[in-house]
Amino acid sequence: MLSFIPLPAFADNYIWLLPQPSGACVVDPGDASPVLDYLAANGQHLAAILVTHHHADHTGGVARLKAAFPHAVVHGPAGVASVDAAHADSDSFAVGDVRFRVIATPGHTLDHLCYYTPGALLSGDTLFGAGCGRLFEGSAEQMYASLARLAALPPDTWIYPAHEYTLANLAFARACDPDNPAVRARLLQDSQRRERGEPTLPVRLDAELASNPFLRSGEPALLAASTQHEGTPVNSALESFAILRRWKNIF
Ligand SMILES: [Zn+2]
Repeated sequence: MLSFIPLPAFADNYIWLLPQPSGACVVDPGDASPVLDYLAANGQHLAAILVTHHHADHTGGVARLKAAFPHAVVHGPAGVASVDAAHADSDSFAVGDVRFRVIATPGHTLDHLCYYTPGALLSGDTLFGAGCGRLFEGSAEQMYASLARLAALPPDTWIYPAHEYTLANLAFARACDPDNPAVRARLLQDSQRRERGEPTLPVRLDAELASNPFLRSGEPALLAASTQHEGTPVNSALESFAILRRWKNIF
């Protein structure tokens, strides 16, 4: 099975790196240094860079990596500097032996792309461990539709988000979905991982479906929590999602 390596960057970013015989592939290198250090220490070169969206903490290292590895192909949304292969929804491309499919997921930003290959989803700032990205550019409707597409992937898909936000997200999940045993079990497990200095990621989609309130906004418990928070009856999963997202912003 494919296994990406987390290279920590900044306070809470992960740059995911997939080592391959034909050259490594990295995702969202906001900083070039951790990538260059890893490649030098492991005697590898860089074959490809995948960019999910235009934010600087995902793109800031691209130019320096491209300068060090001029043959590396940069895949990403049109409009991001240094992108060689601009992609749109349902495009596919190969990096070595791995074929990625592009899933456009507007919401956090309008240009956001996720990259799927059987067994793995690079979810950037769209789907986090137990959470989802803030709505900086897109609408709640767009993000809800984007997350619904990710939720429909095979449940044994491993999710690789770009940030270690899981514990803060689980604290919110405990507040809005307090009787969910999957949230409690995950909070315990992931707290222990963080105490040991380990990432909480990747996480399987089936675990997300059981505990991520933003994928469960239509469940009776979340509809009730949204209703209580808003003080007015909430009947739809989309309406509940929008309320949960606003609530999380101030949680
Ligand atoms: Zn972002």
